[in-house]
Amino acid sequence: MKTSFKKNQVRVGKLFGIPLTFDYSWFLVLFFVTWILAGSYFPSEYKNWSKVYYWLIGGITSILFFVSVLLHEIGHSLVAKKFNYKVKQVKLFIFGGISEIGEEPRNPKEEFLISVAGPVVTFLLAGFFYGLAALFKGNEYLYALFHYLGLINLFLGVFNILPGFPLDGGRILRAIIWARTKDFDKANKLAASVGRIFGFFVIMIGFLEMMAGFFIDGLDCGCLL
Ligand SMILES: [Zn+2]
Repeated sequence: MKTSFKKNQVRVGKLFGIPLTFDYSWFLVLFFVTWILAGSYFPSEYKNWSKVYYWLIGGITSILFFVSVLLHEIGHSLVAKKFNYKVKQVKLFIFGGISEIGEEPRNPKEEFLISVAGPVVTFLLAGFFYGLAALFKGNEYLYALFHYLGLINLFLGVFNILPGFPLDGGRILRAIIWARTKDFDKANKLAASVGRIFGFFVIMIGFLEMMAGFFIDGLDCGCLL
């Protein structure tokens, strides 16, 4: 792997021919997520671990969480490449991941498939990690690790298909309206106004709350499910 440094970011090589870039802000988030998991979430869920284990499992969990985000982006990028779009890079930064595709979507079918690929990967990962959690029920550390990853991917998937730009759901909705009306501008405007109703910032606050563990605590008491 060739590593090169640009302003505020580091290129770490390629995955499936797609260049990967980590913005420095991403390392901060990685630490922040580890800190929340080790300092708050895991200690409240699993009482009898030693401090070392909270940090160890917290660290591994947060790395695998970001691998999950990365795979979500790779999902978008691989489908885009299959349709011969130029994929500049996949970048991880403070708000998660982004697939930088150098061209506008050419038709609704391609936009739909490129947009839906990310959430599909995320839902598959949720199933995969829940499966592992069930398999390793006897080992509390591994169970905690896989169960959290299943949960966070499930949330991420649901959050992602909400119909607000710049979430994938916004683009999926635009592709559907575009296919029906055959009019990209109209689809764009309509999808944007639906997105406004959802309010990206409201969604963002929900997401940050979730990251901070409030939402997850809510789930555990069975209030939301
Ligand atoms: Zn996505």
